[in-house]
Amino acid sequence: MPIEVSEAPVFRGVVALDGPSGTGKSTVARLLARRLRTQYLDTGAMYRAATVAVLRAGVDPADPVAVAAEVAGRRIEVGTDPWHSSTRLDGRDVEREIRTAAVTAAVSPVSAVQAVRDQLVAQQRLIIGRGPTVAEGRDIGSVVWPDAELKVYLTAREDVRARRRAGELGAGTDADDIARIEQALRRRDDFDSSRAVSPLRRADGATEVDTSELTVDEVVELLAGLAFRAVSTADRA
Ligand code: C5P
Repeated sequence: MPIEVSEAPVFRGVVALDGPSGTGKSTVARLLARRLRTQYLDTGAMYRAATVAVLRAGVDPADPVAVAAEVAGRRIEVGTDPWHSSTRLDGRDVEREIRTAAVTAAVSPVSAVQAVRDQLVAQQRLIIGRGPTVAEGRDIGSVVWPDAELKVYLTAREDVRARRRAGELGAGTDADDIARIEQALRRRDDFDSSRAVSPLRRADGATEVDTSELTVDEVVELLAGLAFRAVSTADRA
C-alpha cells in the first residue's frame, strides 16, 4: 500500500495562547491547530462545563466551598479535534449550554476557586502531555505549560473586542448594545485579572500580539511562523 506523504510541515511542540475575551483567541487557536496539525485544547470550555454543573445543582457560584464540592464529583471532558468541538459533563453533551449568557455570567467566580483549578489544570496537563497542542486560556503560559515552545498573549482594543463579541452573539450593532457588551467584557476581564489564583496576565517570555487591526488569517499566519521558528530555534539550541 502506498504511504501518503504530506507536504505540509508538522509542528512538534506546544503553543500557549492566553489573553482576555474578544481578542479572537478561540477562533485563532482552532485555526492554528488545524494549520499546525496539532491537538486543540479550549480550557475555557472546561471551566464553562464546571459552571454548568454548579448552576444545574443550584449552587451559588460565589460560594467557593460549595463550588469545589460540586465540581469535585463531576467528569468534565473536552474533545481535542480542531475540526469538531465537543464538551461533556458526566458523559452528556453540554457544548451548546456552555455558551449561554447564564454560564458566561457565572464562570469567573467558579474558575477562581483553587480546587476547581487544581482539578482542571491536572487534566489539561495530561491532555497536552499526549502530544503537540495549541492550548488557549488565561494561564496556559504562566501555570499550565510554562515550557511551551511558543507563548503568545493576544490583546485587542476594548471597542474592537466588544464589537467582535457582539458579532459572536449575533447581537445588534447599535452603540447601546456595544457599550453594554463592552461593560460585561471589562467586568469579566477585571475579575479574571485580579483574582488571587492564577490571574490573567502576560506570562514570562510571551510574545504580545495586538489583533485590533489584523484579520484572523493574518494572526494565524503570524503565529504559525512564530511557532515554526520557535521549534527550529529550540532544535538548534
Ligand atoms: O475563554 P472563555 O471565555 O471560554 O473562558 C471562560 C472563563 O473561564 C474566563 O472568563 C475565565 O474566568 C475562565 N478561564 C480561566 N482559565 C483558563 C480559561 C478560562 O480561568 N485557562
